[in-house]
Amino acid sequence: MTDAAETPRSAPALACTPEELARLRSGLEGRVALVPTMGALHGGHRALMATAREQADTLVASVFVNPLQFGPGEDYESYPRDLDADMQVCAEEGAALVFAPSVEDIYPGEQIVRVDPGEMGRVLEGEFRPGFFSGVLTVVNKLFNLVRPDVAVFGQKDAQQLALVRRMVRDLNMPIDIAAAPTMRDSDNLASSSRNAYLDPAERRSALALSRALLAGADASVTGPVGILSAARAVLDEAAAGDPPVTVDYLALVDANTFAEVPNDFRGEAVLLVAARVGRTRLIDNVPLSL
Ligand code: AMP
Repeated sequence: MTDAAETPRSAPALACTPEELARLRSGLEGRVALVPTMGALHGGHRALMATAREQADTLVASVFVNPLQFGPGEDYESYPRDLDADMQVCAEEGAALVFAPSVEDIYPGEQIVRVDPGEMGRVLEGEFRPGFFSGVLTVVNKLFNLVRPDVAVFGQKDAQQLALVRRMVRDLNMPIDIAAAPTMRDSDNLASSSRNAYLDPAERRSALALSRALLAGADASVTGPVGILSAARAVLDEAAAGDPPVTVDYLALVDANTFAEVPNDFRGEAVLLVAARVGRTRLIDNVPLSL
């Protein structure tokens, strides 16, 4: 709605508590779009913000590293945090308001009541990161209640998360539109991610096997699920023997709506997904396929 290219950009307002957010939110006009993030903003987040501006009059971004979605031994403590740099990106992308609460503000006591993502949240990412999607959906629910957006924008990069947020909004009758933005990639085709900062140059070279595997799978799409998976698997097998090695958590071809693995005669919208570790960094990527 707003023509971003012609709108002068001023620094967004910053709300660090729910009370500040409520005060600043009441002054926002028109249709409001929310882009929830964990910060360390990159090109992928910028793409979400651009989509949000097309969908609404006013852009609100949130920056919150959500402890509820990290498991023991994961990178909650070391996750990159730089609010000044994030505010700069939000200003450049035309955000009117940034909500960056503390953990104590979001979780003042034990979080007893949580959103259950169901079976769809227990497979794939949910299997390798138990409790992850319950943590994600719970904080997204909180952010929706606090910001009260008309539309919220999520990335295809986290395809299972996007599908579960859509499902939560539908199953819990939340009056919010969900919009998606395609996966942004760096110039070497690695999907942009805040976690890419953990990779040293050799690890990054190895990590390129993820996007290469997805491309090989997509190129084989006329051969059907078995051919797609074996083309992608061949690339990953080679990378598993590389230096440094790529250790695959899963490679799967799923129904885009249910995230159940597709039968060999499947016709419709599917997603080819991969999750793998390179050194201490865990990466995910996917490509949507029409079969
Ligand atoms: P994060 O800050 O990683 O929790 O991501 C916040 C939002 O940005 C989520 O909706 C992600 O799916 C989205 N996102 C992250 N990386 C990308 C990317 N490379 N392309 C598009 N969206 C992304």
